[in-house]
Amino acid sequence: MKKKILYVEDNLQNLYLVTFILEKNGYEVASAMDGPEGIDLAARTKPDLILLDIQLPRMDGYAVARQLRANPDLATIPIVAITSYAMAGDRDKALEAGCSGYIEKPINPETFMNQVEQHLPPVQGPAHAE
Ligand code: MN
Repeated sequence: MKKKILYVEDNLQNLYLVTFILEKNGYEVASAMDGPEGIDLAARTKPDLILLDIQLPRMDGYAVARQLRANPDLATIPIVAITSYAMAGDRDKALEAGCSGYIEKPINPETFMNQVEQHLPPVQGPAHAE
Protein backbone atom coordinates (compact mmCIF):
# COMPACT_ATOMS: atom_id res chain seq x y z
CA MET A 1 0.00 0.00 0.00
CA LYS A 2 1.25 3.48 -0.86
CA LYS A 3 2.28 5.69 1.99
CA LYS A 4 0.18 8.78 2.41
CA ILE A 5 1.61 12.23 2.88
CA LEU A 6 -0.45 15.28 3.77
CA TYR A 7 0.96 18.62 2.61
CA VAL A 8 -0.42 21.82 4.11
CA GLU A 9 0.70 24.70 1.90
CA ASP A 10 -0.88 27.89 0.60
CA ASN A 11 1.66 28.53 -2.16
CA LEU A 12 0.55 26.86 -5.38
CA GLN A 13 4.02 26.65 -6.88
CA ASN A 14 5.35 24.74 -3.87
CA LEU A 15 2.22 22.63 -3.78
CA TYR A 16 2.66 21.55 -7.40
CA LEU A 17 6.39 20.94 -7.07
CA VAL A 18 6.19 18.90 -3.88
CA THR A 19 3.14 16.93 -5.04
CA PHE A 20 4.98 16.11 -8.27
CA ILE A 21 8.10 14.91 -6.43
CA LEU A 22 6.15 12.83 -3.90
CA GLU A 23 3.88 11.18 -6.48
CA LYS A 24 6.83 10.44 -8.74
CA ASN A 25 8.39 8.61 -5.80
CA GLY A 26 5.30 6.49 -5.22
CA TYR A 27 3.56 8.36 -2.44
CA GLU A 28 -0.10 9.24 -2.24
CA VAL A 29 -0.53 12.96 -1.62
CA ALA A 30 -3.35 14.82 0.07
CA SER A 31 -3.15 18.58 0.33
CA ALA A 32 -4.78 21.42 2.19
CA MET A 33 -4.31 25.13 1.66
CA ASP A 34 -4.82 26.31 5.22
CA GLY A 35 -4.46 25.09 8.79
CA PRO A 36 -8.04 24.21 9.73
CA GLU A 37 -8.49 22.30 6.46
CA GLY A 38 -5.19 20.49 7.11
CA ILE A 39 -6.17 19.46 10.63
CA ASP A 40 -9.52 18.21 9.38
CA LEU A 41 -7.90 16.23 6.57
CA ALA A 42 -5.29 14.77 8.94
CA ALA A 43 -8.04 13.51 11.23
CA ARG A 44 -9.95 11.94 8.33
CA THR A 45 -7.07 10.43 6.36
CA LYS A 46 -4.48 9.58 9.09
CA PRO A 47 -1.44 10.21 6.86
CA ASP A 48 1.96 8.57 7.46
CA LEU A 49 3.59 11.99 7.52
CA ILE A 50 2.57 15.64 7.43
CA LEU A 51 4.50 18.36 5.62
CA LEU A 52 3.58 21.70 7.09
CA ASP A 53 4.21 25.17 5.74
CA ILE A 54 4.64 27.68 8.57
CA GLN A 55 3.26 30.83 6.96
CA LEU A 56 -0.36 30.00 6.33
CA PRO A 57 -3.56 32.05 6.25
CA ARG A 58 -6.07 31.83 9.14
CA MET A 59 -3.74 29.88 11.43
CA ASP A 60 0.06 29.60 11.30
CA GLY A 61 1.96 26.32 11.11
CA TYR A 62 2.96 26.42 14.79
CA ALA A 63 -0.66 26.52 15.87
CA VAL A 64 -1.47 23.73 13.41
CA ALA A 65 1.36 21.56 14.80
CA ARG A 66 0.25 22.16 18.39
CA GLN A 67 -3.31 21.22 17.57
CA LEU A 68 -2.24 18.05 15.74
CA ARG A 69 -0.08 17.08 18.70
CA ALA A 70 -2.96 17.64 21.10
CA ASN A 71 -5.08 15.04 19.28
CA PRO A 72 -4.18 11.55 20.62
CA ASP A 73 -5.09 9.97 17.25
CA LEU A 74 -2.62 12.19 15.41
CA ALA A 75 0.03 12.80 18.07
CA THR A 76 2.53 10.26 16.72
CA ILE A 77 2.40 11.25 13.03
CA PRO A 78 5.72 12.88 12.08
CA ILE A 79 5.32 16.54 11.16
CA VAL A 80 8.00 18.15 9.02
CA ALA A 81 7.87 21.95 8.92
CA ILE A 82 8.66 23.68 5.66
CA THR A 83 10.45 26.84 6.77
CA SER A 84 11.99 29.81 5.02
CA TYR A 85 15.75 29.72 4.83
CA ALA A 86 15.91 33.30 6.04
CA MET A 87 13.86 32.69 9.15
CA ALA A 88 16.25 30.86 11.48
CA GLY A 89 13.94 31.39 14.48
CA ASP A 90 11.18 29.48 12.67
CA ARG A 91 13.04 26.22 13.05
CA ASP A 92 13.30 26.30 16.84
CA LYS A 93 9.71 27.43 17.11
CA ALA A 94 8.61 24.60 14.81
CA LEU A 95 10.34 22.00 16.97
CA GLU A 96 8.87 23.56 20.12
CA ALA A 97 5.41 23.34 18.57
CA GLY A 98 5.85 19.59 18.12
CA CYS A 99 7.34 19.23 14.65
CA SER A 100 9.74 16.33 14.18
CA GLY A 101 12.02 18.29 11.89
CA TYR A 102 12.12 20.89 9.16
CA ILE A 103 13.04 21.33 5.53
CA GLU A 104 14.19 24.71 4.29
CA LYS A 105 12.62 26.62 1.44
CA PRO A 106 13.30 26.99 -1.37
CA ILE A 107 12.57 23.30 -1.98
CA ASN A 108 15.54 21.56 -3.55
CA PRO A 109 14.15 18.83 -5.83
CA GLU A 110 17.50 16.97 -5.68
CA THR A 111 17.48 16.44 -1.94
CA PHE A 112 13.84 16.86 -0.96
CA MET A 113 12.77 13.20 -1.07
CA ASN A 114 15.72 12.13 1.03
CA GLN A 115 14.94 14.80 3.62
CA VAL A 116 11.31 13.68 3.80
CA GLU A 117 12.14 9.98 4.09
CA GLN A 118 14.37 10.60 7.09
CA HIS A 119 11.18 11.35 9.00
CA LEU A 120 9.02 8.49 7.76
CA PRO A 121 8.45 5.62 10.17
CA PRO A 122 10.25 2.40 9.17
CA VAL A 123 8.38 -0.01 6.90
CA GLN A 124 6.20 -2.37 8.91
CA GLY A 125 6.75 -6.14 9.03
CA PRO A 126 4.78 -8.75 7.02
CA ALA A 127 2.19 -9.11 9.82
CA HIS A 128 0.91 -5.67 8.95
CA ALA A 129 1.26 -5.87 5.17
CA GLU A 130 -1.88 -5.26 3.15
MN1 MN B 1 2.90 29.88 3.02
